[in-house]
Amino acid sequence: MSGLARELDAINLGQGFPDLPEPVELIEAARTALLERSNQYPPMRGLAELRRTVAAYYAREQQLDVAEGEVVVTSGATEALAASILALIRPGDEAILLQPCYDAYLPLIERAGGTARTVNLVPPEWSLPLDRLEAAIGPRTRLIVLNTPNNPTGTVTGRETLEALGAICERHDLILLCDEVWEGMIFDRTPHVSPLAIPSLRERAIKVGSAGKIFSLTGWKIGWAVAAPHLADAIAAQHQFLTFTTATPLQWAVAQGLSLPREWHDTHRARYAAGKAQLEGGLAQAGYRLLPASGTWFVTVDLASSGLPADDVAVAERLVHEAGVASIPVSAFYTQAAEKGYLRLCFAKQSATLDEAVERLARFRRA
Ligand code: PMP
Repeated sequence: MSGLARELDAINLGQGFPDLPEPVELIEAARTALLERSNQYPPMRGLAELRRTVAAYYAREQQLDVAEGEVVVTSGATEALAASILALIRPGDEAILLQPCYDAYLPLIERAGGTARTVNLVPPEWSLPLDRLEAAIGPRTRLIVLNTPNNPTGTVTGRETLEALGAICERHDLILLCDEVWEGMIFDRTPHVSPLAIPSLRERAIKVGSAGKIFSLTGWKIGWAVAAPHLADAIAAQHQFLTFTTATPLQWAVAQGLSLPREWHDTHRARYAAGKAQLEGGLAQAGYRLLPASGTWFVTVDLASSGLPADDVAVAERLVHEAGVASIPVSAFYTQAAEKGYLRLCFAKQSATLDEAVERLARFRRA
Protein backbone atom coordinates (compact mmCIF):
# COMPACT_ATOMS: atom_id res chain seq x y z
CA MET A 1 0.00 0.00 0.00
CA SER A 2 2.86 2.41 0.77
CA GLY A 3 4.38 1.60 -2.63
CA LEU A 4 1.02 2.25 -4.33
CA ALA A 5 0.56 5.46 -2.31
CA ARG A 6 3.92 6.75 -3.56
CA GLU A 7 3.23 5.69 -7.13
CA LEU A 8 -0.22 7.32 -7.19
CA ASP A 9 0.75 10.30 -5.03
CA ALA A 10 -1.98 9.29 -2.56
CA ILE A 11 -2.20 10.37 1.08
CA ASN A 12 -0.72 7.50 3.04
CA LEU A 13 -2.95 6.62 5.99
CA GLY A 14 -1.84 3.01 5.57
CA GLN A 15 1.55 2.51 7.18
CA GLY A 16 1.86 3.49 10.85
CA PHE A 17 4.42 6.26 10.96
CA PRO A 18 3.85 9.80 12.22
CA ASP A 19 4.64 13.03 10.42
CA LEU A 20 4.08 15.31 13.43
CA PRO A 21 6.94 17.38 14.90
CA GLU A 22 9.45 15.14 16.69
CA PRO A 23 10.19 15.64 20.41
CA VAL A 24 13.12 18.09 20.49
CA GLU A 25 14.02 17.09 24.05
CA LEU A 26 14.98 13.64 22.80
CA ILE A 27 16.75 14.85 19.68
CA GLU A 28 18.82 17.23 21.84
CA ALA A 29 19.54 14.47 24.34
CA ALA A 30 20.74 12.22 21.50
CA ARG A 31 22.98 14.98 20.15
CA THR A 32 24.52 15.57 23.58
CA ALA A 33 24.97 11.83 24.04
CA LEU A 34 26.69 11.52 20.65
CA LEU A 35 29.10 14.32 21.50
CA GLU A 36 29.64 13.78 25.19
CA ARG A 37 28.78 10.20 26.11
CA SER A 38 29.97 6.98 24.59
CA ASN A 39 29.76 5.77 21.01
CA GLN A 40 31.21 2.38 21.89
CA TYR A 41 29.50 -0.88 22.84
CA PRO A 42 27.22 -0.53 25.85
CA PRO A 43 26.68 -3.47 28.25
CA MET A 44 25.02 -6.39 26.49
CA ARG A 45 21.69 -6.06 28.34
CA GLY A 46 21.63 -2.28 27.88
CA LEU A 47 22.90 0.76 29.77
CA ALA A 48 22.19 0.38 33.49
CA GLU A 49 20.81 3.95 33.41
CA LEU A 50 18.24 3.00 30.77
CA ARG A 51 17.26 -0.25 32.46
CA ARG A 52 16.77 1.60 35.77
CA THR A 53 14.73 4.29 34.01
CA VAL A 54 12.51 1.74 32.25
CA ALA A 55 11.80 0.17 35.66
CA ALA A 56 11.09 3.60 37.22
CA TYR A 57 8.85 4.61 34.30
CA TYR A 58 6.75 1.47 34.72
CA ALA A 59 6.60 1.97 38.50
CA ARG A 60 5.27 5.50 37.91
CA GLU A 61 2.96 4.80 34.97
CA GLN A 62 1.74 1.28 35.65
CA GLN A 63 2.57 0.67 39.34
CA LEU A 64 4.80 -2.24 38.37
CA ASP A 65 7.55 -3.48 40.63
CA VAL A 66 10.33 -4.27 38.18
CA ALA A 67 14.03 -4.72 38.98
CA GLU A 68 16.77 -3.34 36.72
CA GLY A 69 17.94 -6.94 36.15
CA GLU A 70 14.55 -7.85 34.66
CA VAL A 71 14.98 -5.41 31.74
CA VAL A 72 16.81 -6.37 28.53
CA VAL A 73 17.29 -3.51 26.05
CA THR A 74 16.91 -4.55 22.41
CA SER A 75 17.00 -3.06 18.92
CA GLY A 76 13.33 -2.20 18.80
CA ALA A 77 10.42 -4.21 20.09
CA THR A 78 10.92 -6.42 17.05
CA GLU A 79 14.17 -7.77 18.45
CA ALA A 80 12.61 -8.23 21.89
CA LEU A 81 9.87 -10.31 20.25
CA ALA A 82 12.42 -12.28 18.21
CA ALA A 83 14.66 -12.96 21.21
CA SER A 84 11.67 -14.03 23.33
CA ILE A 85 10.33 -16.38 20.66
CA LEU A 86 13.77 -17.88 19.98
CA ALA A 87 14.23 -18.36 23.73
CA LEU A 88 10.95 -20.20 24.18
CA ILE A 89 10.09 -22.03 20.96
CA ARG A 90 11.94 -25.20 19.96
CA PRO A 91 11.32 -27.10 16.70
CA GLY A 92 7.89 -28.72 16.88
CA ASP A 93 6.56 -26.36 19.56
CA GLU A 94 3.37 -24.38 19.11
CA ALA A 95 2.33 -20.85 19.88
CA ILE A 96 -1.13 -19.30 19.92
CA LEU A 97 -1.74 -16.12 17.95
CA LEU A 98 -4.81 -13.96 18.38
CA GLN A 99 -5.94 -12.57 15.05
CA PRO A 100 -5.88 -9.93 13.70
CA CYS A 101 -2.25 -9.60 14.77
CA TYR A 102 0.94 -7.74 14.01
CA ASP A 103 2.78 -9.27 11.07
CA ALA A 104 6.08 -10.18 12.75
CA TYR A 105 4.83 -12.86 15.14
CA LEU A 106 4.15 -15.72 12.72
CA PRO A 107 7.39 -15.56 10.70
CA LEU A 108 9.41 -15.38 13.93
CA ILE A 109 7.64 -18.42 15.36
CA GLU A 110 8.19 -20.34 12.13
CA ARG A 111 11.84 -19.29 11.98
CA ALA A 112 12.29 -20.78 15.45
CA GLY A 113 10.92 -24.07 14.07
CA GLY A 114 7.50 -23.68 15.63
CA THR A 115 3.99 -23.50 14.29
CA ALA A 116 1.10 -21.24 15.22
CA ARG A 117 -2.52 -21.97 16.00
CA THR A 118 -4.75 -19.00 15.52
CA VAL A 119 -7.78 -17.80 17.44
CA ASN A 120 -9.86 -14.93 16.06
CA LEU A 121 -10.82 -11.97 18.23
CA VAL A 122 -14.52 -11.23 17.91
CA PRO A 123 -15.58 -7.87 16.41
CA PRO A 124 -16.93 -5.29 17.01
CA GLU A 125 -15.24 -5.21 20.47
CA TRP A 126 -12.53 -7.64 19.33
CA SER A 127 -13.15 -9.63 22.50
CA LEU A 128 -11.06 -12.69 23.26
CA PRO A 129 -13.04 -15.98 23.19
CA LEU A 130 -11.33 -17.70 26.11
CA ASP A 131 -13.05 -21.05 25.46
CA ARG A 132 -11.75 -21.15 21.88
CA LEU A 133 -8.33 -20.09 23.09
CA GLU A 134 -8.18 -22.90 25.61
CA ALA A 135 -9.42 -25.38 23.01
CA ALA A 136 -6.50 -24.41 20.75
CA ILE A 137 -3.92 -25.37 23.39
CA GLY A 138 -2.16 -28.67 22.70
CA PRO A 139 0.63 -30.69 24.36
CA ARG A 140 3.33 -28.77 22.42
CA THR A 141 1.93 -25.29 23.10
CA ARG A 142 4.49 -23.11 24.88
CA LEU A 143 3.36 -19.58 24.29
CA ILE A 144 0.40 -17.25 23.83
CA VAL A 145 1.15 -13.97 22.06
CA LEU A 146 -1.01 -11.05 23.16
CA ASN A 147 -0.89 -7.45 21.91
CA THR A 148 -2.45 -4.73 24.06
CA PRO A 149 -3.24 -2.01 23.06
CA ASN A 150 -3.82 -3.88 19.85
CA ASN A 151 -2.55 -3.07 16.40
CA PRO A 152 -4.68 -3.01 14.22
CA THR A 153 -7.86 -2.85 16.33
CA GLY A 154 -6.87 -0.16 18.87
CA THR A 155 -8.59 -2.09 21.67
CA VAL A 156 -7.16 -2.75 25.13
CA THR A 157 -7.22 -6.04 27.07
CA GLY A 158 -8.78 -5.56 30.51
CA ARG A 159 -7.66 -6.87 33.88
CA GLU A 160 -10.37 -9.54 34.03
CA THR A 161 -9.32 -11.06 30.71
CA LEU A 162 -5.69 -10.98 31.80
CA GLU A 163 -6.60 -12.77 35.02
CA ALA A 164 -8.42 -15.43 33.00
CA LEU A 165 -5.37 -15.72 30.74
CA GLY A 166 -3.21 -16.11 33.86
CA ALA A 167 -5.35 -19.05 35.01
CA ILE A 168 -5.07 -20.65 31.56
CA CYS A 169 -1.29 -20.15 31.49
CA GLU A 170 -0.98 -21.73 34.94
CA ARG A 171 -3.22 -24.66 33.99
CA HIS A 172 -1.24 -25.43 30.84
CA ASP A 173 2.20 -24.19 31.95
CA LEU A 174 2.43 -21.49 29.26
CA ILE A 175 4.24 -18.20 28.88
CA LEU A 176 2.35 -15.06 27.83
CA LEU A 177 4.38 -12.89 25.46
CA CYS A 178 2.73 -9.49 25.66
CA ASP A 179 3.49 -6.86 23.04
CA GLU A 180 2.74 -3.56 24.79
CA VAL A 181 4.45 -1.16 22.39
CA TRP A 182 1.31 1.02 22.23
CA GLU A 183 1.03 1.38 26.04
CA GLY A 184 1.85 5.12 25.86
CA MET A 185 -0.78 5.86 23.21
CA ILE A 186 -4.14 5.41 24.93
CA PHE A 187 -6.49 8.36 24.50
CA ASP A 188 -9.48 7.62 26.70
CA ARG A 189 -9.58 6.72 30.36
CA THR A 190 -9.06 3.00 29.75
CA PRO A 191 -6.14 1.96 31.94
CA HIS A 192 -3.32 -0.02 30.37
CA VAL A 193 -2.83 -3.17 32.42
CA SER A 194 0.31 -5.21 31.85
CA PRO A 195 0.25 -8.95 32.56
CA LEU A 196 3.17 -8.22 34.90
CA ALA A 197 0.57 -6.56 37.18
CA ILE A 198 -1.37 -9.84 37.45
CA PRO A 199 0.06 -12.09 40.21
CA SER A 200 -0.49 -15.35 38.29
CA LEU A 201 1.38 -13.89 35.29
CA ARG A 202 4.21 -12.06 37.07
CA GLU A 203 6.61 -14.98 36.53
CA ARG A 204 4.96 -16.16 33.30
CA ALA A 205 4.74 -13.03 31.20
CA ILE A 206 7.17 -11.08 29.05
CA LYS A 207 6.37 -7.41 28.56
CA VAL A 208 7.69 -5.88 25.35
CA GLY A 209 8.02 -2.09 25.02
CA SER A 210 9.28 0.36 22.40
CA ALA A 211 10.68 3.88 22.70
CA GLY A 212 9.82 4.26 19.02
CA LYS A 213 6.15 4.25 19.97
CA ILE A 214 6.34 6.09 23.30
CA PHE A 215 8.23 9.01 21.70
CA SER A 216 7.01 8.69 18.08
CA LEU A 217 10.59 8.10 16.94
CA THR A 218 9.99 4.91 14.99
CA GLY A 219 13.40 4.99 13.30
CA TRP A 220 15.31 4.83 16.58
CA LYS A 221 14.53 1.15 17.15
CA ILE A 222 15.11 1.09 20.89
CA GLY A 223 12.95 -1.48 22.63
CA TRP A 224 13.05 -3.79 25.60
CA ALA A 225 11.75 -6.97 27.13
CA VAL A 226 10.81 -7.03 30.82
CA ALA A 227 10.36 -10.36 32.58
CA ALA A 228 11.19 -12.39 35.68
CA PRO A 229 14.94 -13.15 35.94
CA HIS A 230 14.81 -16.69 34.50
CA LEU A 231 12.99 -15.39 31.42
CA ALA A 232 15.11 -12.23 31.15
CA ASP A 233 18.24 -14.42 31.21
CA ALA A 234 16.90 -16.63 28.41
CA ILE A 235 15.99 -13.56 26.33
CA ALA A 236 19.41 -11.98 26.92
CA ALA A 237 21.07 -15.21 25.77
CA GLN A 238 19.31 -14.83 22.40
CA HIS A 239 19.93 -11.08 22.23
CA GLN A 240 23.65 -11.76 22.64
CA PHE A 241 23.81 -13.38 19.19
CA LEU A 242 21.04 -11.45 17.46
CA THR A 243 22.43 -7.93 17.84
CA PHE A 244 24.49 -8.12 21.08
CA THR A 245 23.85 -4.43 21.82
CA THR A 246 21.82 -1.43 20.74
CA ALA A 247 22.93 2.11 19.75
CA THR A 248 24.53 3.60 22.87
CA PRO A 249 23.74 7.33 22.36
CA LEU A 250 20.08 6.59 21.65
CA GLN A 251 19.88 4.54 24.85
CA TRP A 252 21.08 7.60 26.79
CA ALA A 253 18.52 9.78 25.04
CA VAL A 254 15.65 7.37 25.70
CA ALA A 255 16.65 7.19 29.40
CA GLN A 256 16.35 10.98 29.56
CA GLY A 257 13.04 10.92 27.71
CA LEU A 258 11.50 8.35 30.04
CA SER A 259 12.52 10.55 32.97
CA LEU A 260 10.59 13.55 31.60
CA PRO A 261 7.67 14.45 33.89
CA ARG A 262 4.26 12.93 33.34
CA GLU A 263 2.97 16.30 32.02
CA TRP A 264 5.45 16.10 29.14
CA HIS A 265 4.15 12.68 28.18
CA ASP A 266 0.54 13.93 28.50
CA THR A 267 1.26 16.84 26.14
CA HIS A 268 2.99 14.55 23.66
CA ARG A 269 0.04 12.16 23.72
CA ALA A 270 -2.48 15.01 23.36
CA ARG A 271 -1.18 15.78 19.85
CA TYR A 272 -2.13 12.29 18.76
CA ALA A 273 -5.46 12.46 20.60
CA ALA A 274 -6.24 15.55 18.52
CA GLY A 275 -5.46 13.66 15.29
CA LYS A 276 -7.70 10.79 16.39
CA ALA A 277 -10.58 13.14 17.21
CA GLN A 278 -10.13 14.98 13.90
CA LEU A 279 -10.14 11.84 11.75
CA GLU A 280 -12.97 10.21 13.72
CA GLY A 281 -15.09 13.38 13.59
CA GLY A 282 -14.45 14.00 9.89
CA LEU A 283 -15.17 10.42 8.88
CA ALA A 284 -18.35 10.27 10.97
CA GLN A 285 -19.60 13.41 9.27
CA ALA A 286 -18.83 11.90 5.89
CA GLY A 287 -20.98 8.87 6.76
CA TYR A 288 -18.28 6.38 7.70
CA ARG A 289 -18.84 4.19 10.75
CA LEU A 290 -15.89 3.40 12.97
CA LEU A 291 -15.39 0.74 15.61
CA PRO A 292 -14.60 1.95 19.13
CA ALA A 293 -10.84 2.11 19.82
CA SER A 294 -8.89 3.35 22.86
CA GLY A 295 -5.33 3.47 21.63
CA THR A 296 -2.60 3.12 18.96
CA TRP A 297 -2.39 5.45 15.94
CA PHE A 298 -5.22 3.70 14.11
CA VAL A 299 -8.96 3.74 13.65
CA THR A 300 -11.04 0.99 12.07
CA VAL A 301 -13.73 1.65 9.47
CA ASP A 302 -16.65 -0.78 9.58
CA LEU A 303 -17.32 -1.13 5.85
CA ALA A 304 -20.80 -2.72 5.89
CA SER A 305 -22.29 -0.18 8.30
CA SER A 306 -20.57 2.57 6.28
CA GLY A 307 -22.58 1.46 3.24
CA LEU A 308 -19.56 -0.02 1.46
CA PRO A 309 -18.97 -3.57 0.20
CA ALA A 310 -17.53 -5.80 2.90
CA ASP A 311 -14.45 -6.70 0.85
CA ASP A 312 -11.68 -4.75 2.53
CA VAL A 313 -9.01 -5.47 -0.11
CA ALA A 314 -11.27 -4.32 -2.95
CA VAL A 315 -12.33 -1.17 -1.06
CA ALA A 316 -8.70 -0.35 -0.12
CA GLU A 317 -7.71 -0.67 -3.77
CA ARG A 318 -10.56 1.56 -4.91
CA LEU A 319 -9.71 4.11 -2.20
CA VAL A 320 -6.10 4.41 -3.23
CA HIS A 321 -6.89 4.58 -6.96
CA GLU A 322 -10.11 6.59 -6.96
CA ALA A 323 -9.89 8.71 -3.79
CA GLY A 324 -6.12 8.99 -3.46
CA VAL A 325 -6.03 7.67 0.13
CA ALA A 326 -4.04 4.59 1.14
CA SER A 327 -5.37 2.38 3.95
CA ILE A 328 -4.69 -1.17 5.14
CA PRO A 329 -7.28 -3.93 4.83
CA VAL A 330 -7.57 -5.56 8.27
CA SER A 331 -7.69 -9.00 6.60
CA ALA A 332 -3.94 -8.52 5.95
CA PHE A 333 -3.43 -9.12 9.69
CA TYR A 334 -4.74 -12.70 9.45
CA THR A 335 -3.09 -15.87 8.19
CA GLN A 336 -6.43 -17.64 7.68
CA ALA A 337 -10.18 -17.26 8.29
CA ALA A 338 -9.87 -13.48 8.01
CA GLU A 339 -12.54 -10.94 8.88
CA LYS A 340 -12.99 -8.97 5.68
CA GLY A 341 -15.22 -6.08 6.64
CA TYR A 342 -12.72 -3.60 8.10
CA LEU A 343 -10.12 -1.03 7.05
CA ARG A 344 -7.33 0.45 9.18
CA LEU A 345 -6.50 4.15 8.87
CA CYS A 346 -3.58 5.93 10.60
CA PHE A 347 -4.32 9.32 12.18
CA ALA A 348 -0.76 10.22 13.28
CA LYS A 349 -0.55 12.89 10.59
CA GLN A 350 -0.55 16.68 10.34
CA SER A 351 -3.95 18.29 10.68
CA ALA A 352 -3.90 19.58 7.07
CA THR A 353 -3.13 16.05 5.79
CA LEU A 354 -6.04 14.62 7.78
CA ASP A 355 -8.37 17.36 6.50
CA GLU A 356 -7.43 16.60 2.92
CA ALA A 357 -7.81 12.85 3.48
CA VAL A 358 -11.28 13.31 5.01
CA GLU A 359 -12.28 15.56 2.12
CA ARG A 360 -11.19 12.91 -0.39
CA LEU A 361 -12.91 10.10 1.51
CA ALA A 362 -16.11 12.16 1.76
CA ARG A 363 -16.04 12.76 -2.01
CA PHE A 364 -15.49 9.04 -2.63
CA ARG A 365 -18.53 8.14 -0.55
CA ARG A 366 -20.72 10.74 -2.29
CA ALA A 367 -19.70 9.52 -5.76
N1 PMP B 1 4.62 -4.57 17.75
C1 PMP B 1 3.57 -3.84 17.28
C2 PMP B 1 2.19 -4.22 17.64
C3 PMP B 1 3.83 -2.76 16.45
O1 PMP B 1 2.79 -2.04 15.98
C4 PMP B 1 5.17 -2.43 16.10
C5 PMP B 1 5.51 -1.29 15.20
N2 PMP B 1 4.64 -1.04 14.17
C6 PMP B 1 6.20 -3.22 16.63
C7 PMP B 1 5.89 -4.28 17.45
C8 PMP B 1 7.64 -2.96 16.29
O2 PMP B 1 8.23 -2.03 17.14
P1 PMP B 1 9.73 -1.54 16.91
O3 PMP B 1 9.72 -0.54 15.81
O4 PMP B 1 10.13 -0.95 18.24
O5 PMP B 1 10.54 -2.74 16.56
